[in-house]
Amino acid sequence: MGFKSAINDLAKSLRRMIFVNMLVLTLIIPFVLLALGVETSKIALITATSGFILCAVNFLFISNYCVRKTEDTLTSSYESMQNDYLYDELTQVYNRRAGLIRLNEEFARAKRNNSTFSVAMVDADYFKKINDTYGHIAGDNILTHIAATLRAGLRECDVVIRYGGEEFLILLPETSSKTAAMPLDRLRSRLSKNKYAYQGYQIPVSISIGIATISALDDDPIQVVQRADNALYTAKKTGRNRVVYGQQNQDLRPALSHA
Ligand code: GH3
Ligand code: MG
Ligand code: MG
Repeated sequence: MGFKSAINDLAKSLRRMIFVNMLVLTLIIPFVLLALGVETSKIALITATSGFILCAVNFLFISNYCVRKTEDTLTSSYESMQNDYLYDELTQVYNRRAGLIRLNEEFARAKRNNSTFSVAMVDADYFKKINDTYGHIAGDNILTHIAATLRAGLRECDVVIRYGGEEFLILLPETSSKTAAMPLDRLRSRLSKNKYAYQGYQIPVSISIGIATISALDDDPIQVVQRADNALYTAKKTGRNRVVYGQQNQDLRPALSHA
């Protein structure tokens, strides 16, 4: 529930309570007493006394109700804001903003502890064709499926990030490229072996992966990401649906020519 609609609900319930009180005090009590033949002076006294008691009870009830409702509203709004801030709406893995913060933290930790750290750049193969053939909803579902498969198949401490459209960045703390390759290749193979069932279609899905490991020469995590991205480029160039390690100083991309 949105913050605004929760506050509107709260205001509506308060208005309803105040209206019921007014009705009881100004109409029901005096009229019932009048119908019972009670003297006017007694009616005034009873109405004033019951009005006082009702107001006191209401004051306690309304203030408690307001505090509880406001707490609930603020808690659920905070949780949903935190969710939006950290996670990608479609795939529910880390979004790019939160993921890059985690990348910097993990890189700094690896440097500090002199431990190893790998990153993997993952890209869905022929994704444009999937969208064009089966529609963007199928494409969205497949992206969610890829993210869930990656998340479920890795360790709790590994971080899966939606880096771009159909690209994911994975952070693998305390892991060398070789150690990282095993589970990643298993996930790659699992995705490509099981076609994705969608509205009676069996859609082939595959991913390409580039892996790179931190080296003593790196002073910025983007250097490691760049090597993983270069390795991904090699994976694409050499047939897709595969895992490739990134080497230091590797840059196989041709220079862009606008000629
Ligand atoms: P390659 O194997 O070389 O990676 O080819 P590709 O078709 O996957 O790569 P390309 O960069 O040509 O196309 C990526 C496509 O991914 C195009 C874009 O519309 C689609 N895409 C990006 N984000 C989303 C998304 O959130 N949902 C859907 N359905 N498609 C998306
Ligand atoms: Mg791409
Ligand atoms: Mg792609």
